[in-house]
Amino acid sequence: MTRSVFPDPNENWALFLDFDGTLVDIVERPDAVAVDPGLPGILKDLQNRFGGALAIISGRPIAFLDERFGDNRFDIAGLHGLEHRIGGALFLCDPDDHPQLRDMVDRLEEIFKARPGILIEDKGCSVAVHWRLAPLERDFVHATVHAAIEALGSDYRVQFGKAVAEILPSAAGKGKVIEKFLQQAPYRGRQPIFIGDDLTDENGFKAVNALGGVSIRIGAGETVAQERLGTPADLRHCLSQWAAGGSLPFHWNR
Ligand SMILES: [Mg+2]
Repeated sequence: MTRSVFPDPNENWALFLDFDGTLVDIVERPDAVAVDPGLPGILKDLQNRFGGALAIISGRPIAFLDERFGDNRFDIAGLHGLEHRIGGALFLCDPDDHPQLRDMVDRLEEIFKARPGILIEDKGCSVAVHWRLAPLERDFVHATVHAAIEALGSDYRVQFGKAVAEILPSAAGKGKVIEKFLQQAPYRGRQPIFIGDDLTDENGFKAVNALGGVSIRIGAGETVAQERLGTPADLRHCLSQWAAGGSLPFHWNR
C-alpha cells in the first residue's frame, strides 16, 4: 500500500501518545515536569477529530498525570499499563497485591539513601530509580536493580529508560495496554498511531507495527519505529497543525 502523506485524523485511526520526552520535555527532577499551557487544548481538538480515540500511555501514575492536565481528563494508561482509564472508567493497580515489591522498595530506599542524587520514585505497583542527577552511579544502580530482579523472580522485570531503571510486574507493557484499548470503543476497529521517545516505548512500537499501524519516535536512538521527529517541541508544533486540519510532515511508502 502506498501512502503519500500522514493519515488524516478520522474514524480509521486511534492516537496513542507517551508523556515524558514526547508531549513534554524531560527535566532533571521527574516531579518538576510541566505541561505547555497550549497542550491540553490541542489534545482536546485532536480527540474530537479522532472521534474520542486519543489516549496518553505513560509510565507515570494516572493521578500524577491528571494533576498536570488540570481539569482535562483524557483516556489514559499509567504505570506502563498497570492502570488505565477509558471513557471515565478507572482500572487501578492495588499495591497490596504486590507485597514482595513493597518489601523491595523498602530495601532499595535503605540502599540508596546514602547515595545523593539517586531518586527513588515509588509508584505503588512499580518503583523507578532515577540517576539523572548522579550519572556516575549508573553502574551501581544497574547492579542493584538486577540483583533486586533476581530476588523477586519472574513475576517482575526491569525496564530501562533515560537515566532510569524501573522494576515492574512482568505483565505490564505499553504494547499490551494499547492492544487492550483497541478492544474497546471508540478504539475498536481502528489502526493505532503511537508516538514515544524511549526504550519503554519500543514495546509499544513493536505492537503497533504488528497491527499495521504507525509508530513515531521522538529524538535519537535505535528504534523499531517507522518515523522520527526531533524534540517534544517539534511534536507539539506538529500536533497543533494537525489539530487545526493540517497534515503531519511525513511521506513514506508502505
Ligand atoms: Mg517517554
